[in-house]
Amino acid sequence: MNGPMREQHGVTQLAKLQKRDRETERERERERETLQRTLLSGGLWDSLKKAAFVIGSGLFFLVAFRNSVTWHLQRFWGASGDFWQTQWTRLYTAFDGNEASLFFIGTMLVPTFFFWLFNGFLMIVDTTGKPAFITRYRIQQDKNNPVEVERVWRAVKVVLCNQLFLSVPLVILTYTVMSWRGELCAPQLPTFHWVLLELAVCGLLEEVLFYYSHRLFHHPFFYKRIHKVHHEWTAPIGVVSLYAHPVEHVFSNMLPALIGPVLLGSHMATTSLWFTVALIVTSISHCGYHLPLLPSPEFHDFHHLKFNQCYGVLGVLDRLHGTDDKFRKTKEYERHTLLLSLTPLSKSIPDTPKKHE
Ligand SMILES: [Zn+2]
Ligand SMILES: [Zn+2]
Repeated sequence: MNGPMREQHGVTQLAKLQKRDRETERERERERETLQRTLLSGGLWDSLKKAAFVIGSGLFFLVAFRNSVTWHLQRFWGASGDFWQTQWTRLYTAFDGNEASLFFIGTMLVPTFFFWLFNGFLMIVDTTGKPAFITRYRIQQDKNNPVEVERVWRAVKVVLCNQLFLSVPLVILTYTVMSWRGELCAPQLPTFHWVLLELAVCGLLEEVLFYYSHRLFHHPFFYKRIHKVHHEWTAPIGVVSLYAHPVEHVFSNMLPALIGPVLLGSHMATTSLWFTVALIVTSISHCGYHLPLLPSPEFHDFHHLKFNQCYGVLGVLDRLHGTDDKFRKTKEYERHTLLLSLTPLSKSIPDTPKKHE
């Protein structure tokens, strides 16, 4: 290589080195930006990943469950399924296949009937303090013993207004929206597996929508204007489940339950069953008695007692967002199980005696 050529080569080498430096610098810059973005969104991203994991594994187990346990149930259903199909055909013929009437009866009147049947019984227990067989399972033992009739009556009036002026129009609106999608009251009932799967999807959607709308209602702005009404009861009773401000009744009670059947285009029978189950479950979670063989109401009872813990229904999202951290250190948490014996949990897991100062 002669002189000028060597010089030329040196310049090219230098330019290459400078270019590489610039590239490395740009790469570092990009890395820094990515890192910053990750750090900023870390909390949310982590929660989302965890949520996806839990919901994903939930669906996985659902499929496994569907293939094993439900096989036995399906055998049972095989016999009783004919029974239900016969009843449905009879009803369908009686109404001449009138979808609107069938839908209103199934998704409004039937769930409401079971709501009042269950809560009517609970209200007798609450106001009379009898029978002791039930009241011995009371969670907040020094409260509601018994509940004043006046107070219960005030709650009943609000609930009736919510049902009449909000639930009824909303169910009619739901019918209009759903009937665009197709037949809602098909002469053939859905299969047992399909009903189970739809109930599970409805339950998950309700958990997500209820959790976030409920947390939003705990924002000071909405709390004092809307959600405070529902929290007047620090020791709730069954009927308080629908005792809420009209805005809360629509956004936190109705929409999270409606969204499942609307998205899935469920058969009226499935929707009817889902609404009935949802209403009974929410009544149990407010009833104030931890009864044997029924879902534990400790979680939501604790929410009414402490306000800033346990926002969800199933508790999955509270776990992910850490909004059950205080609850998990309490006796109530230890009692938050399915009671399989007749001994009240307040006896088998008693409160720690308060220290005298
Ligand atoms: Zn509540
Ligand atoms: Zn609340």
